[in-house]
Amino acid sequence: MLCHDLFKRPFHRHQLCRRWHEAKREVSGALRKRDISVDGFDLTDRVALITGSSRGIGRTLAAGLADAGATVVLNGMHQIALQDAQASFREQYGPDRVFARAFDVTDELQVAAAVTWIEDEVGPIRIVINNAGIQHRVLLLELDHADWEQVLRVNLTGAFLVGREVARRMINRGRGKIINIASVQSELARPTIAAYTTAKGGLRNLTRAMAAEWAGAGLQVNALAPGYIHTEMTQNLVDDEAFNAWVLARTPARRWGSSADLVGPVVWLASDGSDYVNGQVIYVDGGMTVVL
Ligand code: NAP
Repeated sequence: MLCHDLFKRPFHRHQLCRRWHEAKREVSGALRKRDISVDGFDLTDRVALITGSSRGIGRTLAAGLADAGATVVLNGMHQIALQDAQASFREQYGPDRVFARAFDVTDELQVAAAVTWIEDEVGPIRIVINNAGIQHRVLLLELDHADWEQVLRVNLTGAFLVGREVARRMINRGRGKIINIASVQSELARPTIAAYTTAKGGLRNLTRAMAAEWAGAGLQVNALAPGYIHTEMTQNLVDDEAFNAWVLARTPARRWGSSADLVGPVVWLASDGSDYVNGQVIYVDGGMTVVL
């Protein structure tokens, strides 16, 4: 169809036709730009920092990003566990693509020093996964102030400190991906995990706040929210017959998730394939949050 057929009123026809052709050119230009990328999910040569990746979900996500081509920087607080993880990653991906740095995500000075070290020694950080997290299960009436603070610090303040430190550099470069590991508890509460639910709910809105301020500078900030995933953190729940039965009944997929279930979505969020996705919480929960 010609633009003359679309815009019948002669007075506006010329101007509207011109705009229509401009818009067409922009769209086809954007499509051509996309076509140039051989693989929209390829992460080759991109440096990814994954906090809390000495074990559990973080470790599997780090392996997923490395499988997609990224150079990974592992993190945890305990040096020996971290060194073990680094050694096994280096065997698989080679020494040039695997680094490790122990630091506490709640310590502002340690975070700043670590980010500077990574940028100087490994390269500009392109991807950050704010994954470090802890749980503390106790009834709200018995929750100590110090434990409340610690859960908030690791799960929420840590993501703020690491995200802010890295974003300062990403903004100057005009690109970067920040992925916060949230939870179904970003949306839903359950007895005995008040501090965790509060922190993960906060992380959902921190994700939105980061997107609101940084999307215009070329960053994409999103959250990945796992359902019940079988890891060290949840081993005692898997072993608890009643809890295990509750998870299986409450999850439409009728199983616990595995860390591997999170890899596809995280690679997508870390890649060019998600360049227009911002401030979203992607639930990977076997359907738990969509049913009662
Ligand atoms: P995990 O097995 O207990 O591993 C936690 C990781 O975080 C470890 O590498 C730990 O290293 C690190 N870490 C803890 N505190 C840290 C700190 N202050 N600074 C730096 N690193 C720290 O936990 P996970 O089950 O894999 O959970 C990972 C993330 O997924 C958490 O954010 C969790 O809330 C979230 N999540 C988990 C589930 C689940 O079902 N498992 C569901 C939803 C969301 P060190 O021991 O060396 O400190």
